[in-house]
Amino acid sequence: MLSCKDVSQLLSESLDRNLPFWKRLSLWTHLGMCRLCRAFRKDLQHLHKRTRQQAEEIEADTSAPQVTLPDESRQRLKRVLESHKPS
Ligand SMILES: [Zn+2]
Repeated sequence: MLSCKDVSQLLSESLDRNLPFWKRLSLWTHLGMCRLCRAFRKDLQHLHKRTRQQAEEIEADTSAPQVTLPDESRQRLKRVLESHKPS
């Protein structure tokens, strides 16, 4: 069983490359049960999408706006990151 910390690492990894089948399976099993990790995944995807959009905008236009997350997502991301701090 994966911990929330494992899941957050796998989620970041999955944005850069395809995960092996067993890792995806463990990930989805955990996500099915853990609301916090589902929220984290959503925020991560949002951030990833915005970062990519901004990179494209910068290529096209040097006066591109800054990447911003909604307040709610920022707070949630902060909570998840704090809960993953090593004790
Ligand atoms: Zn979790």
